[in-house]
Amino acid sequence: MPLDIRNLNVDFRTLRGWVRVVDNVNLKINTNDEILGLVGESGCGKSTLGLAVSGLLPPNSRVTGEVLVKGQDVVQNPYSRKIAVIFQDALAALNPVLTIGEQIAEIYIYHKNMQKKDALEITKKVLVEVGLPDNTVDKYPHQLSGGQRQRVLIAMALAMEPDLIIADEPTTALDVTVQAKVLQTLMSVVKSRKIPMIYITHDLALASQVADRIAVMYAGQIIEIADKNELFENPRHPYTKALLNSVPRVDRDIEELFVIEGEPPVPGNFPTGCRFHPRCPFMMDKCKQIEPGLVIFNKAVVRCFLYE
Ligand code: SF4
Repeated sequence: MPLDIRNLNVDFRTLRGWVRVVDNVNLKINTNDEILGLVGESGCGKSTLGLAVSGLLPPNSRVTGEVLVKGQDVVQNPYSRKIAVIFQDALAALNPVLTIGEQIAEIYIYHKNMQKKDALEITKKVLVEVGLPDNTVDKYPHQLSGGQRQRVLIAMALAMEPDLIIADEPTTALDVTVQAKVLQTLMSVVKSRKIPMIYITHDLALASQVADRIAVMYAGQIIEIADKNELFENPRHPYTKALLNSVPRVDRDIEELFVIEGEPPVPGNFPTGCRFHPRCPFMMDKCKQIEPGLVIFNKAVVRCFLYE
């Protein structure tokens, strides 16, 4: 199995003691060409989960549980598998004083023991694969547009020949048309190379374009997982339903967009019982005191008392 996350917790040390940000997460990617969308509002823990899987958490954090990438636990052995991360801010991720060619070729030299000349040749090929001209090797990051820089980050991820890619809001800074083209390229290269990917986004509509399956996070927990089509046609959790109602859709006439009342809770101050209960229109008495477990359906899971 490409990815099997078991009982993953992430805590951060703060002045108030340890604060849990990711709470007992279980997630799988079942096939090499599967894209798992991880969706939730800001602060729900989705990016922290991505950093925990990629081993990039800061030193004031603590990870427990297992993250098996192709059978190897990368929590215990962070370098036992290659995990590439594509971040939103390409300018911050790229070195401003090296050409694109030097930066990508370095990956081939380091990971594949290649000579510089051969590394530059294969760098040109991977740049073409992500939709850039091969003379991009001679350019510096500031000479490229935002969309081109994101394509460079995709090329760098491919150059690692990773076992898993984590793309964290990789196109959020781009305008909508560029975003669509870059996402199309990302999907097509990971599918054709059969690289499993976690695609992290706050945007459920974007996740529906990119992912095969979607996991919805709220207040550090997974609250629903389902195939993309099932999630859109038959959302179960009240939060997922609310998220879907707040997304504009061309197939529906609506007067105004639905807004989810209230604010998402912050780590260290999660409500008792169901963490969504202060915002849930279906809240029952027990929702305030007892934490719901995950209810398993055929190919989906949901964390809500309405389905027990
Ligand atoms: S468990 Fe209760 S409060 Fe939580 S989502 Fe379900 S109905 Fe709403």
